[in-house]
Amino acid sequence: MPVCENCQYEWTWKQSMRSMATLGHGYECQNCSAKQFPTKRARTRHFLVTMLIPLFLMFQVFTDFSPAIVMAATLVLGLILILIIPFYTEVQNEDEPLW
Ligand SMILES: [Zn+2]
Repeated sequence: MPVCENCQYEWTWKQSMRSMATLGHGYECQNCSAKQFPTKRARTRHFLVTMLIPLFLMFQVFTDFSPAIVMAATLVLGLILILIIPFYTEVQNEDEPLW
């Protein structure tokens, strides 16, 4: 779970999901209200995990599974990936460029 670099408070899964569901840049700590930003490593993980979805969709091309089954499995996979985001997210006080 993310740990606020400002107050060292470990966010709960629910708090993490609530903070990350906002459209703005960065996440607000539910404990101290400090703005927190995902680390470079966390953003790389998010990218790699997100890329699993199109890769999983391409799985249908190489197999005999029906498109409906692959789509349903992809939706389930996508939902699982969204639900586990807080487990591999790390936050910090400073926003740093990805490159
Ligand atoms: Zn905090």
